[in-house]
Amino acid sequence: MKSAGREFDLCVVGLGPTGRALAHRAVAAGLTVAAVDPRPDRLWHPTYSCWVDELPQWLPSSAIAIRIESPTVWTKAEHRIARPYCVLSKPGLHAALPLDDATVVTGRAARVDAHEVELTDGTILTAATVFDTRGLPALGQRRAASAHGIFVDERTAAPMIADGEGLLLDWRPENGAGPDAPPSFLYAVPVGDGTVIFEETSLGLRAGMPQHELRRRTLNRLAAHGIRLTGGEPTEAAHYPLDQPPPKSGIARPIPFGSRGGMMHPCTGYSVADSLALVDTALAAVRDGRDPIAELWPVRARLTYWMRMRGLWGLGRLTTDQSIAMFDAFFTESPRGQRALLSAHDDYTALGAVLFNTVAHTWPFRWRFDLVGWTNRNRWLGYDFDHAPVSAARR
Ligand SMILES: Cc1cc2nc3c(=O)[nH]c(=O)nc-3n(C[C@H](O)[C@H](O)[C@H](O)COP(=O)(O)OP(=O)(O)OC[C@H]3O[C@@H](n4cnc5c(N)ncnc54)[C@H](O)[C@@H]3O)c2cc1C
Repeated sequence: MKSAGREFDLCVVGLGPTGRALAHRAVAAGLTVAAVDPRPDRLWHPTYSCWVDELPQWLPSSAIAIRIESPTVWTKAEHRIARPYCVLSKPGLHAALPLDDATVVTGRAARVDAHEVELTDGTILTAATVFDTRGLPALGQRRAASAHGIFVDERTAAPMIADGEGLLLDWRPENGAGPDAPPSFLYAVPVGDGTVIFEETSLGLRAGMPQHELRRRTLNRLAAHGIRLTGGEPTEAAHYPLDQPPPKSGIARPIPFGSRGGMMHPCTGYSVADSLALVDTALAAVRDGRDPIAELWPVRARLTYWMRMRGLWGLGRLTTDQSIAMFDAFFTESPRGQRALLSAHDDYTALGAVLFNTVAHTWPFRWRFDLVGWTNRNRWLGYDFDHAPVSAARR
């Protein structure tokens, strides 16, 4: 068994956006850092987006590929959200997080302990603190975010997405799914390289929605706006769990951080901006000898997470019409309430209020029972996408 023979202040296992940001900021804070990943220099596959105001001050604007000043949400009507949103630049974000002064190790961790990481080739790295940023475990039957994204040339996309515009949630009845099938919405934003991503997305279903169904729904929506594709457009796929819980406090263990450490938002499927924003909180705790998990997850943040999980369960049992009614109620709530659900890590009072009001304003009245789980708790459990009846709208 080999040994690297030196001890680090910090070992970061996994160099997704979270691990890379953590390692980068740790070096900047004067810590000695080892960073491990099987492919440490690879650009990340997914297209990451977030609200501009979530990003930490230290991140240069070169990490942003495109800004959308007031994105659109379509429910029964069009809502303009007066809050700038952005798509991150993959090369820009990567370059903004250099690891020149870290010890970058190409390898896969087989064992991750409180002070020791063993790689599959037997190398052992020791560190005063170990962060586990290996991302999410496999989905299985858990509640999922599923999406199929197609990158379409901006000119072809123009009938739906004009310059500087973006569709965060498009619930218009154009995906051909029919009322008796699990719901999904369209997300469509320019990504900054001359293309627009059209991504049909499902949130909250156990085991998720299959790619072929999401693709068919995306194509239906595009066709409804007269957009035809060649079939050769690049695509991206998402299929990951939304219910990865925050870790329990305790310092004698590796610290799960980022999507692995409870930062995956149960209702939106976003984690990148929150993880970037919390990097310095974690590092300040390490520097001062406090428990990073306790600092990252005070009671108010845990309460926030608990309420969002209720939101996730609600999302996973609604019909399309119910989803539209619920989002219609939500997007007429106060900006602080919307923020408390969509992004704030620990604004539990505003979140409690917005959840209560959203349920109270959803109409017809009886749908509220589905929202809170008194009725139709497992509506879509075991839904068979391959043998679903084809509704008139889907033919
Ligand atoms: C198509 C798609 C679109 C998405 N869009 C958004 C979005 O717009 N906004 C958003 O916030 N989130 C988005 N997400 C969610 C996104 O996956 C996560 O938010 C993000 O990647 C989590 O970052 P992370 O660094 O925590 O984990 P990951 O990105 O999963 O990184 C984990 C890293 O750990 C490494 N690793 C794994 N196992 C080991 C091991 N044994 N040893 C060493 N290294 C290991 C991996 O190689 C990887 O580099 C999207 C996801 C997908 C798939």
